[in-house]
Amino acid sequence: MTSRNDLLFERARQHIPAGVNSPVRAFRAVGGTPPFFERASGPHLWDADGKRYIDYVGSWGPMVLGHTHPQVVEAVQGAAARALSFGAPTEGEIELAEAICRLVPSVEMVRLVSSGTEATMSAIRLARGHTGRSLIVKFEGCYHGHADSLLVKAGSGALTFGNPSSAGVPPETAAHTLVLDFNDTAQVEKVFKDKGKRIACVIVEPVAGNMNLVLPKPGFLESLRENCTRQGAVLLFDEVMTGFRVALGGAQARYGIRPDLTTLGKVIGGGLPVGAFGGRREIMEKIAPLGPVYQAGTLSGNPVAVAAGLATLKLVQEKDFQLKIERTTQSLVDGLNAEARKAKVVFTAQCVGSMFGLYFRAAPPASFAEVMQCDKDRFNRFFHLMLERGVYLAPSAYEAGFVSAAHGAKEIEATLAAASEAFRSLAASG
Ligand SMILES: *Cc1c(COP(=O)(O)O)cnc(C)c1O
Repeated sequence: MTSRNDLLFERARQHIPAGVNSPVRAFRAVGGTPPFFERASGPHLWDADGKRYIDYVGSWGPMVLGHTHPQVVEAVQGAAARALSFGAPTEGEIELAEAICRLVPSVEMVRLVSSGTEATMSAIRLARGHTGRSLIVKFEGCYHGHADSLLVKAGSGALTFGNPSSAGVPPETAAHTLVLDFNDTAQVEKVFKDKGKRIACVIVEPVAGNMNLVLPKPGFLESLRENCTRQGAVLLFDEVMTGFRVALGGAQARYGIRPDLTTLGKVIGGGLPVGAFGGRREIMEKIAPLGPVYQAGTLSGNPVAVAAGLATLKLVQEKDFQLKIERTTQSLVDGLNAEARKAKVVFTAQCVGSMFGLYFRAAPPASFAEVMQCDKDRFNRFFHLMLERGVYLAPSAYEAGFVSAAHGAKEIEATLAAASEAFRSLAASG
């Protein structure tokens, strides 16, 4: 019997490049046919063949509550019935801005956009407009969306294809972007010593989640803060993934660093398209129409998307929400490490907040180069063994995983039972 997934994939490829609207979804890295999903509930997804999966992708981060949370669905339905879009101000936008500024204290003013890419692109323009400088510093393996100036040795999708930058980005644009090694404080010091007064901003994922999961070494984020302050550059934390995940106040709360600008996305839309950039009032007041830096959006602050975001943020603030989801994530990671040990497979897993990383390597990586040393073939086999057993992991060795508040002991147990078989199978086949 031909599967519906196969038929849909075949049909999709006729009119959509590779059959997908975002590259990693095509399963090129791991091979095979991607499931086409039809519905989701809590920690589960169902594909077009009616197969159920435990979901550790969470739409790449947004679904921190799990899928189709009744309060979010109700908020969306209510908002949709009132209006789909005005292109004019609404009270919901104020509420979302107030919630963001309260939860992320470095954000004194914020503007809403419709994606993480839009947020980082706008924040970079703002940093350049504010400083009157052109250079930006980013780190290899960090992904900040697909704006031209940031697709310079970018991670995530581009990385998966072994194609570190993109065709179509003018060399003149890329020439303004300096790419350093994540966690390499000496390189940061050097680039600031040589070019400090020309640097508009440093953009960083304070916990890198687009080259698997890489934690900042003690002192790394601090050195970014010190150098930016000393040379008048803007420190931009891209918390599109880490916001409301690594801690309620984001990675900046967890590590105690106050950036000048922050970009958000994913969780703040609760599954609908919302992004945001915000930070110091003095910088944010440079945005049009208050200031000279242009930025706009027809659907920015869309009432339906904002309603989903507000409902989500309300729930993530509940007492013990973060604690509970962190404990679940830790139990997953501890269990995976134990199962790999039993099967004698070289593997390690770690987590921060509700994000986790899986590495076919003896120790967690601290840089892009170390991420590249992970055994990718083993990951790909592990991925398919887990998929067959109803566990949906990100279809690439270079993505972080996500746990939701809807994942409980039952799902973790089922996942570990699948992992036990998968690790044994890997050990048996060498
Ligand atoms: C996902 C992501 C983006 C891009 O967000 P989109 O909504 O996909 O455009 C930017 N930065 C980081 C850190 C991300 O994880």
